[in-house]
Amino acid sequence: MENFLNGNVNLTVLACLLAALAITIVLLLKLRRLKELKSTVAYLKQSLEELDEQAKLIVRTDLELNKTQEELDKRISGLYALQRISHELSKTLQQSEIFRRISSEDISDFGFHKALIFMEDKGGLSLKYQTGYLDGEIAGIETKMENEDFYGLFKIKNTTFSSSSVSSKFGKDISAIFGPNSFVISPLVKKDGVCGFLYLASDSVQAPLTAGDEELVAILATHLAQALDNAELFEEVYMQHQLLEKKVMARTQELSSALEQLNSVSKRKTDFVSAVSHELRTPLTSIKGYAAILLAGKLGEIPKEVKERLEKINLHSDELVHMVNDLLDIARLESGRIEMKLEPLNIASCAENILDMLSPQLKEKTITAKLDIPAQTVNVLADRTQISRVFINLLSNAIKFVPEKSGEIRIQASTIGEFVQVNISDNGIGMNQNDANRIFEEFYRVDNPINQKVKGTGLGLTLVKNIVQAHKGKIWVESQINRGSTFSFTLPKAQI
Ligand code: ADP
Repeated sequence: MENFLNGNVNLTVLACLLAALAITIVLLLKLRRLKELKSTVAYLKQSLEELDEQAKLIVRTDLELNKTQEELDKRISGLYALQRISHELSKTLQQSEIFRRISSEDISDFGFHKALIFMEDKGGLSLKYQTGYLDGEIAGIETKMENEDFYGLFKIKNTTFSSSSVSSKFGKDISAIFGPNSFVISPLVKKDGVCGFLYLASDSVQAPLTAGDEELVAILATHLAQALDNAELFEEVYMQHQLLEKKVMARTQELSSALEQLNSVSKRKTDFVSAVSHELRTPLTSIKGYAAILLAGKLGEIPKEVKERLEKINLHSDELVHMVNDLLDIARLESGRIEMKLEPLNIASCAENILDMLSPQLKEKTITAKLDIPAQTVNVLADRTQISRVFINLLSNAIKFVPEKSGEIRIQASTIGEFVQVNISDNGIGMNQNDANRIFEEFYRVDNPINQKVKGTGLGLTLVKNIVQAHKGKIWVESQINRGSTFSFTLPKAQI
């Protein structure tokens, strides 16, 4: 029994022990679970905190992004406005029109609601543009500007600045003059320096102005100043052009009236010469006729002395007739009263005929004249009789002014474009440039030893010039004293 009891106690103790063990194990397990839960809770807490931080960061970033987006939108609309204004400004070259091209919409696209442009004018400042101000306000601004000598100080600074970047003292001064606390002001700098300023402002301060705002306004001010420069330049050029045009017109009028006068004087002279020459011909013919009758002894024998004088009368009358005829021809050529009988003319054969005709004179001085005209030289369109007179005059002069025996005369011709150029050169006495410039004038004769001995009228070359010009040709001379002269003239080619 005792054993049985002892056995039961043992069993109970064992069961108790087992129960205690089981409870301990359960407790231990719970404890472990609790620890695990605790660390999970701590982890979750930390995660939550981190999430909160991140949420805050996201909100902050979103706010910043929104701000940047706003800034960007503002900048883009400012740039569009700048592009629009620049385009408008480039379309005008009138100073007054430039300011009319800036609209209040453009200014508000810049992010401002008020704008002023003042420019230097007659020693002061004058308002060229304004938007957002009442008329009464402007007068107040002008007075305040003068009192504060704002422009003098601004000119010294000569830079773009805004209410955010300027010193608080000057900023306050500017706000006191113009009103708003948020502004950008930029100098207008033309090629000769600062000439005014552009002021943009806003009453409502949404965000502080940035360097970007200043930059945009500075660009607008530069474009404005450039447009003003261009307009000024254009006005200058335009004025000068007008002035020049007026001068040219006045000059042209003067010249045309001078030309009219000259033409009428020239016509009167030609008419006079023509009339006088004509009137002279009749009495000259009579003089010659009476002299011839007397010389022929038809009125009785005349003494030798009288005969000699009569022969002189005859000779001088001939010279006079010659001169009168030349004068008449010159007058007729000048007034276009001689009709040119134009025909294809071979220059070489024409020159050859004249050389033939002048051969006695050539022989008398023992000189040669060389005809150097290529066979293929084209014909000219000219009046044979008149061109023969040109050759006679030029060749007679050449013969007259070359030295005996060693004298050389050369006739050349060549085709130049639509004309044939003829050169008659000699190795004669020549002349200086001043004489060369004048020998085609009527009655002009060079003062040289040959002219002192040999008589002449100084009309031959005038006649020649008129004949060549009547053919639409030109004549000129190149000469050197004691070296010789080359007379050149051109005549139009005959069409083949
Ligand atoms: P004239 O022969 O009657 O004096 P011209 O009108 O033919 O008048 O010539 C004007 C002047 O031109 C001549 O007086 C002469 O001084 C100068 N002259 C013309 N041809 C020559 C020449 N070949 N060489 C030098 N002088 C010349």
